[in-house]
Amino acid sequence: MDYKAWFQCIGGCDEKYELNEIIYQCKKCNNLLEVRHDINKLKEQDGDTWKSLFEERYRKTLWPYGSGVWGKKELVCPNIANENIISLYEGGTNLFWAERLGNKIGIDDLWIKQCGDSHTGSFKDLGMTVLVSMVNQMKSSGMDIPAVACASTGDTSAALSAYCAAAGIPAIVFLPKDKVSNAQLIQPIANGALTLSIDTDFDGCMKIVREICKNDNIYLANSMNSLRIEGQKTVSFEIVQQFDWEVPDVIIIPGGNLGNVTALGNGFTMLRDLGIIDKFPKIVCAQAANANPLYRSFLTGFKEYKPIQAQKTLASAIQIGNPVSINKAIKVLNTFNGLVEEATEDEIANTSAMADHTGLFCCPHTGVALSALIKLVEKKEIKRSDKVVVISTANGLKFSDFKIRYHENSIENVNPSFQNLPIELKPCYEDVRKAILNKLESNSR
Ligand SMILES: *Cc1c(COP(=O)(O)O)cnc(C)c1O
Ligand SMILES: [Zn+2]
Repeated sequence: MDYKAWFQCIGGCDEKYELNEIIYQCKKCNNLLEVRHDINKLKEQDGDTWKSLFEERYRKTLWPYGSGVWGKKELVCPNIANENIISLYEGGTNLFWAERLGNKIGIDDLWIKQCGDSHTGSFKDLGMTVLVSMVNQMKSSGMDIPAVACASTGDTSAALSAYCAAAGIPAIVFLPKDKVSNAQLIQPIANGALTLSIDTDFDGCMKIVREICKNDNIYLANSMNSLRIEGQKTVSFEIVQQFDWEVPDVIIIPGGNLGNVTALGNGFTMLRDLGIIDKFPKIVCAQAANANPLYRSFLTGFKEYKPIQAQKTLASAIQIGNPVSINKAIKVLNTFNGLVEEATEDEIANTSAMADHTGLFCCPHTGVALSALIKLVEKKEIKRSDKVVVISTANGLKFSDFKIRYHENSIENVNPSFQNLPIELKPCYEDVRKAILNKLESNSR
């Protein structure tokens, strides 16, 4: 198997670098790098042959190919030897028809891709297996990399810590103080990562970690390192495979640093280049109104863009004002007939709760994406008959604090339409029965 990938400058100067070099930006022009593959070599195998190979491997036990990421190894990162791969069997997540939620929203064919049903509870696992495997390979070839570091809004740090712990590589995570959930905070602590709680926001953490990683060979694991994008793009491959190689009409994804929307677009582009699909979905990026630099740029037709100071939002993993992958994301949205929509705090909370009432357990970011869907249906940008996939980026269990506060009605500026509190009762048959009958009666009214 002599497939090969490399880093290439996105700035047009076309400088190339090896994937096992410690580099995140072009030495000539300072632009970000992206991973490029030898597409002509990959095309020597036709689309149907690739499909049957992927079907054969999907969720099977032959290591490492049962992983949703490594089952597509040739398209992700062929340069890593199997013995260096650090995999926790990521990907292969549930994609289900949300019929009742779709009925409420006015979409007949609504599907939820549960990327949070993963090892550390978010899609960040998909990228981190690639990045940590590459570090493992670099270390085993004798390179001196004492630690891997990232700034995080809570999920990148959880993924980095788990994969590094599995590899036996030290991890350092930079978290904005009091801006991640308890569940997210305990993940790196439990995995033994050096956990730094810094009195700033994500953008502030990002600035410091970039400085730190310039020295001491500490390897940067943020998504400006495009190895992560390669793993994350498998979500496109997986959605198409789960639909028996059909492409949905619309995909909605919540965006913060905008690595994932870039990954989604890159995945579909690669599938088309290989003859596996022959059309593209429309891609919608959903942002919190309190952290909406991409949305503001969209309103100018992407002619203008200004970083902003992100305000506090329930969707804490996307509280980002200066997204690293802004240019890559705009390129993807221009190619994919893209739209950007925003959601207020009240919409995020109540839409999440509405979805929960149809059987989900939605993280607030998924609530942002669903709120965007509701608005785009109202604006007739999305039709009732469209096949729509909403990417659920994290497991709701990481955000139980948010749900508790919602049902206690203690979130500022949110009026909880779906409030549901436990009824406290003495162990008395009559009282319990009365409580049940009252509830059944109010349901039937
Ligand atoms: C990281 C993250 C996002 C945003 O992804 P970006 O690549 O930063 O745009 C959305 N939701 C959750 C739960 C995340 O952890
Ligand atoms: Zn360059």
